[in-house]
Amino acid sequence: MRIDAKNLSKIYGDGENRVVALDRASLEIEEGDFLSIMGPSGSGKSTLLHLLSGLDRPSSGNLFYDGEDIYSLPDSKLSAFRRRRIGFIFQQFNLLPVLTAEENIMMPLFLDKRQPEEAYFKELVNLLGIENRLTHLSHELSGGQQQRVAIARALIAKPDVIFADEPTGNLDSKSGGEVMELLKTVQEKMGKTLVVITHDHRIARMAKRQFLIVDGILREVSGGANE
Ligand code: ADP
Ligand code: MG
Repeated sequence: MRIDAKNLSKIYGDGENRVVALDRASLEIEEGDFLSIMGPSGSGKSTLLHLLSGLDRPSSGNLFYDGEDIYSLPDSKLSAFRRRRIGFIFQQFNLLPVLTAEENIMMPLFLDKRQPEEAYFKELVNLLGIENRLTHLSHELSGGQQQRVAIARALIAKPDVIFADEPTGNLDSKSGGEVMELLKTVQEKMGKTLVVITHDHRIARMAKRQFLIVDGILREVSGGANE
């Protein structure tokens, strides 16, 4: 799926509370691309990710997925689109504490009233090395294991695009490195588009395309590893 963002802006508040969180961001993302976005705290990274993924609506600008302007869709269609085409990974993992790892992974399918595919589920949990953790609750898992469960949850509905907002921000450097290697494997082997926000230069450099955002202004800083 090809993503085309045109002059996306997000303005919060008005008068003296007015904040331009994102200022006319434009970018094109090809199918299977791997992008990283760095920038200081409060620079608009999460705002950009929310707008690119259909989680929020821009103050102005357009977002096209394969030519379809998704912010012209009504909320119900927009959330169905998100459930089917987009996977999210968060810094805080966001697993539901009363559910087992397996139930957390399956949650997006239940929300969409879809049946799990046993073979695909097995493939995912083996790839992520969590096949022996499926009956555990999240507090019984390490941070790295929780994030791997969250990655499986992001992938279970077979989305085209994965958005990750500081996925290693809550992990030590070793398990953060492992999580990023897994995400890169998923991007390469499964042909997913991957957009990762990070504070870590090492992680940013794993991406094919690197972006920087400062005071809501986005720019591409390099062609990255393939140059
Ligand atoms: P980052 O993820 O880079 O830390 P954010 O995108 O979360 O930055 O925030 C960008 C700017 O927008 C900040 O100044 C932040 O305070 C502001 N902001 C974000 N969300 C809201 C909101 N819901 N209401 C008001 N201001 C917000
Ligand atoms: Mg943020």
